[in-house]
Amino acid sequence: MNVSASSLDELKEILGDCGRCPLSANRKMIVFGMGNPASSLLFVGEAPGRAEDEQGLPFVGPAGKLLDELLSNIGLRRSDVYITNVVKCRPPGNRDPLPQEIETCNPFLKEQIRLIAPKIVCSLGRIAAGVMLERNIQISKVHGMRFPGPGYFNVVAFHPAAALRTPSTMEMITEDFMRLREYLDDEEIPPGPKDEPEQMGLF
Ligand code: URA
Repeated sequence: MNVSASSLDELKEILGDCGRCPLSANRKMIVFGMGNPASSLLFVGEAPGRAEDEQGLPFVGPAGKLLDELLSNIGLRRSDVYITNVVKCRPPGNRDPLPQEIETCNPFLKEQIRLIAPKIVCSLGRIAAGVMLERNIQISKVHGMRFPGPGYFNVVAFHPAAALRTPSTMEMITEDFMRLREYLDDEEIPPGPKDEPEQMGLF
């Protein structure tokens, strides 16, 4: 399925009261995304949790509070960035989104990225990083790293929820955000749309 819109508002309208995958059956609200639509930094999380499902906004629960702190550490506010998720509806019991659910929602994520045209897409956690890098990854190996994507850089960070569970991950996610600040300040131009990661020799 291809999705094409001329603005995020139009894309949201196309998404509508989505029933394209089974996640729609149990959700309260669709969580499309929030933030600055012209930001050079786009965060991609995994899926809405309970608080997000209730409010219709991404990262408004405990993980979101930590995300706000991590942003503040590097001189950013939520309104400076754009935040969305791999899937826009809460999986029952916060289970991992299934491959079919991710695939169904992916055209909307891709179109958000195209419309926002960020310099950096920062994936939060294993699921988002796997989707953005289009391969199974080990988060412990790739966190803090930057990979060329089509027209932007992919940066990988631990998921804030993982950091809330594990003190050693909290140290690593703090470092991931320091690296993210360096990548944002770096003047290197993101690769062009045809420069696939394989061709750039980084994998
Ligand atoms: N975790 C996510 O991955 N996304 C949210 O929006 C909230 C928690």
